[in-house]
Amino acid sequence: MLNEKHPTQAMFDRQAELWTCNRLLASLPPPATERLRPFLEMISAEKGDTLFEPGDDVSHAYFPLGRTVIAFTLPLRDGRAIEAATVGREGVVGGIISLGVKPAFARAVIRIPGDLARVGIQRLEEAKRAEPRLQENLTRYADCLIAQVLQSVACATVHPLEARCSRWLLMMQDRLQAPQLPMTQDALAEMFGVARTYVTRMARGLQRKGAISYRRGVIRIEDRAVLEASACECYGLVRDHFERVLPGIYPTREP
Ligand SMILES: [Zn+2]
Repeated sequence: MLNEKHPTQAMFDRQAELWTCNRLLASLPPPATERLRPFLEMISAEKGDTLFEPGDDVSHAYFPLGRTVIAFTLPLRDGRAIEAATVGREGVVGGIISLGVKPAFARAVIRIPGDLARVGIQRLEEAKRAEPRLQENLTRYADCLIAQVLQSVACATVHPLEARCSRWLLMMQDRLQAPQLPMTQDALAEMFGVARTYVTRMARGLQRKGAISYRRGVIRIEDRAVLEASACECYGLVRDHFERVLPGIYPTREP
């Protein structure tokens, strides 16, 4: 359930601490932040909460705060939902490019629970028209998100499961800034569109290399360098594109 609350309001109200909340919001010049701030509403979300489904009118844009991560997934007729993109504190979900309320194409679901700041789409559109930097940064972010999706097409087509999963784990660690990641092997299998047995075998391989450990539904990254060596080039390509388009916003390392 989405709950309205104000868990990080005090922190959020201080511009300097906005970086620990959402780096895209924090990148805006103060006039743009101030224009949005009165309309930003704090909510908290649980794992698996759905922000919108394909075909839904997108009523709000959601900025993940802190360690919250949203996934774009594509629900298939057989009941599976394949992950297409991952959005954490470096980004926003909903109404980035569209002018006003438009139907969603993918499902937006909470992958890692936590707090979000949301703003009504009409308010966001007004703020974009008034603040060119807001418009520019959201457009630049959209470019980074498209890059992530485009690279994922190539990745899913030709790269082996271990490389794809290593890439995904690195992306998640960047957003979480923590070694532990709550994720069952069943969830990984659904996300990558493969049988559970493949995921089990792949996870054992990464454990043998010392890259990760896996216990009771929690993946722990033990050696990031080994995991980076196991990942395909897709991880670095998307991260580097992000760095060129929106310098300093991708959460590679926290200060
Ligand atoms: Zn790849």
